[in-house]
Amino acid sequence: MSIDYLHEEELLDREELNKLQVERLRSRIDAAKKSRFYSLRLQAFQAEDIQNIEDVKKLPFTTKDDLREYYPDGFLCRPMNEMVRMHASSGTTGSPTAIFYTGKDLDTWADLVARCMYMAGVREGDVFQNLSGYGLFTGGLGIHYGAERLGALTIPAGAGNSKRQIKLLQDFRVSVMHIIPSYALHLFNVIHSSGLTPQDFNLRIALIGAEPHSEEIRQLIQEKFRIKAYNSYGLSEMNGPGVGFECTEQNGMHIWEDAYIVEVLDPSTLEPVPNGEIGELVLTSLTREGMPLIRYRTKDLTRIIPGKCNCGREHARIDRILGRTDDMIILKGVNIYPLQVEKVLMGIPEVGQNYLIVLEQQDYIDNMRVRVEIKDEYFEEDMRALKGLEQKIAHSLREEILITPKVELVEHNSIANNHGKAERVVDNRSCQ
Ligand code: AMP
Ligand code: ZN
Repeated sequence: MSIDYLHEEELLDREELNKLQVERLRSRIDAAKKSRFYSLRLQAFQAEDIQNIEDVKKLPFTTKDDLREYYPDGFLCRPMNEMVRMHASSGTTGSPTAIFYTGKDLDTWADLVARCMYMAGVREGDVFQNLSGYGLFTGGLGIHYGAERLGALTIPAGAGNSKRQIKLLQDFRVSVMHIIPSYALHLFNVIHSSGLTPQDFNLRIALIGAEPHSEEIRQLIQEKFRIKAYNSYGLSEMNGPGVGFECTEQNGMHIWEDAYIVEVLDPSTLEPVPNGEIGELVLTSLTREGMPLIRYRTKDLTRIIPGKCNCGREHARIDRILGRTDDMIILKGVNIYPLQVEKVLMGIPEVGQNYLIVLEQQDYIDNMRVRVEIKDEYFEEDMRALKGLEQKIAHSLREEILITPKVELVEHNSIANNHGKAERVVDNRSCQ
């Protein structure tokens, strides 16, 4: 079978891939040891300890807590003045993790994203609209430079403002868009209620990602817009988007193994799960020079899809992300930990002991409602004071989690606490 590809690396067979991985892993060990974190963590390891790809298992893991502890620059393998870009994991204003890139890192990242987009059928000459938020979140600039690298006319539309998005899509005959799945469905509702139909657009492909979604949601997007939708997975610690991407077979996301080592481990034993079974995805970056990460525990649950893909590429495929090993919530593409909410609530004097985060969906838009118990002495107060308090809490939460939740004040002891352990999150969204 002949593969329609963008870069030679896509054609490597298993043996060639593993050989390249070993070479690159060895050089990453040497490079990583120049950072404060790995100079300690990898003290006992030499490049020569890696003889074959199985030897990656000898190396220690890296976690998000490590990144936080060594924030901001403890993972840098080169002087800060050689870095040209910084990003951060979305929504982590409380306990940030910073990711740095050299000029070469940005270059290799753009190549990886361009390969992904090409694999999903995007071509030079396409008109591409990026509906991701630009800023610290990597889905903006990361996808942007990949699209330009591919030679697509790239429109950095950013997030929100549906009317303007629709105008851009129409005026520039946009053929490919990058959009989070829940927003895609909302956007379609706005299109529909404006009296427009898919025929009024030139769309062919949607690249959807940044948040968990089911096969049913993909099908809905495809049917409504009459396009193909491809899943895109990434995380800032591994550059950002361009880590896992579906090919036109739509049967799992390929991970470029010349750039990443893929492991799927049992999160409790940290041993590999049998081929095809679900576990935690652990990734090692092989081409990053500013801040390579070794055996990074993503906390994302998935499985390797066994066998070779019909597209002919050898590069491993992972299933859609099936959940998390921690309690991280992904809402509108933003990562939120319940503890961030708790920290804010407990800093407000009127707030009592209990709270409950309810995640809901209306017209395909995800929302967060926070039910907050108020101390008795404040609950007596008049309506206006309570409304003011609601707004104050919503505002403080927004500062921390970047999303404005609906706040509902309730009486002391009115949130059920049946099992001893307080339930903090109820997820009523259908696509999770
Ligand atoms: P960030 O580093 O802020 O870009 O967030 C990365 C996290 O977003 C990942 O670890 C996943 O939990 C989630 N994520 C990204 N892409 C997808 C996707 N296609 N499906 C499900 N979850 C995703
Ligand atoms: Zn494939």
